[in-house]
Amino acid sequence: MIRTRTIALLTTFVSAAVVIGALSVAAPHAQAPKRVALVGGMLLTGYEIPPIHHAAVVIEGSKIVAAGPASEIKIPADATIVDTSGRAMLPGLIETHGHLVVLGHGSYDTWFPWINSHGGDAMMTRVMEISARQLLMAGVTTTVDLGAPLKPILAIRDRINKGDVVGSRMLVSGPWIAHLAGAAGSGAMQVGFGGLNIATPQEAERETERLAAAGVDVIKAHAGLTLEDYKAIVGAAHRHGIKVYAHVYAEQDVRHALDAGVDILQHVGSAGTAPPYSKELITDIVNAGRPVVVTAAHRAWMYEDTAAFPERLQDPDLRKAFGPDIYAEVQDSLKTWWALAYFQRTDREMLYRERGVKQFIEAGAVMGMGTDSGTPMNFHSEALWREIKVHVDMGMTPMRAIAAATRVNAQIIGKARDLGSIEPGKIADIIVVNGNPLFDITALSHVEIVMKDGVVYKGGPAVDGKPRSTGAK
Ligand SMILES: [Zn+2]
Ligand SMILES: [Zn+2]
Repeated sequence: MIRTRTIALLTTFVSAAVVIGALSVAAPHAQAPKRVALVGGMLLTGYEIPPIHHAAVVIEGSKIVAAGPASEIKIPADATIVDTSGRAMLPGLIETHGHLVVLGHGSYDTWFPWINSHGGDAMMTRVMEISARQLLMAGVTTTVDLGAPLKPILAIRDRINKGDVVGSRMLVSGPWIAHLAGAAGSGAMQVGFGGLNIATPQEAERETERLAAAGVDVIKAHAGLTLEDYKAIVGAAHRHGIKVYAHVYAEQDVRHALDAGVDILQHVGSAGTAPPYSKELITDIVNAGRPVVVTAAHRAWMYEDTAAFPERLQDPDLRKAFGPDIYAEVQDSLKTWWALAYFQRTDREMLYRERGVKQFIEAGAVMGMGTDSGTPMNFHSEALWREIKVHVDMGMTPMRAIAAATRVNAQIIGKARDLGSIEPGKIADIIVVNGNPLFDITALSHVEIVMKDGVVYKGGPAVDGKPRSTGAK
């Protein structure tokens, strides 16, 4: 009965409002309509509180101005209505670890040379545009890129933010900072992602200053740095109000990063470095409230998932997103995916994977979500929901996992004032998924509507009488 009543109310709202046919969509220079209301669906706010059923969210320009049960929310008469009934609304997802310069290709050793011999900068720009668009269409409205050549990544970030490119909102590190003597070295990976080598804390500080002056949003500090290197990087970054993300696996690296005051510990617990970490380290991480992002799903789970369903590598959405040349190159690189060097140690990672994630869930660490999206077979179109699913499978409640990927992620990247939850005053980054993610978390793989900055980029109402394509990737 309640449902019937709400539907009746919804009908009233819809007929009372002017349904504007020309809601701006994925056009590059899309103007946010003055007022939009998402009406009818279940609302997950990003907080760990019960969902609001048959809800409405009102957006003015790029901001949320009201959210609550549809029966209690006044929908402005001139609002464009987006019907979300029968589905779930939640904050746009946030990815705290992606790489736009890669999109799932099997080998850095051949991918980066392939870019160079197929247009160089122009191809790299095209690849980054594709990646950013894939992320947005998967409901990832904000992404932190943790490793890319400086100029191209700053350029795409700014073009997206200006509205010239359809893509996830970007925060970028540019090149990561690694120690000359460390594992990153000078191989294809270091070169392709634009990694910087330093030999002393003074050099580390200088590079951090240089990156900050160039306009990066975050600094990525690679494994293998000394305690003094980390301290120099953190000191310089914090002077500019910039957070430092550490790429760390081994206990000693994690310890150095933690003690030096690195803001987010990335990868911890995810690779073949035998978990659990020492009790002291886990306790110190938890007590410091230092956020961890495990990046668990790629390799350790992805390998087995691909063995079970290799068809995922030929997802038609990939073909559409990549175009024939990139698609062919990626397919070629994955022909014998099981033998790729990238998966050399995956047997160990699979052995350790559960303990690696559970040690943080069970200890009560602040956990964000990030995926290393774009790495081999780890497609931007699905990396984040797979990561979230792994956390749920490892014991995190779906509610907490969704909060981690939205509100908690916003907090740990320093954007809590604007992003991560659906409430008045926040930027209108909202996605609508088919199904109840609290019942089945893979509902997050069925993203039907994506709104970023108050603009609908996927799904939404008909335009000029024609239904919008919801399959656009
Ligand atoms: Zn990393
Ligand atoms: Zn990475």
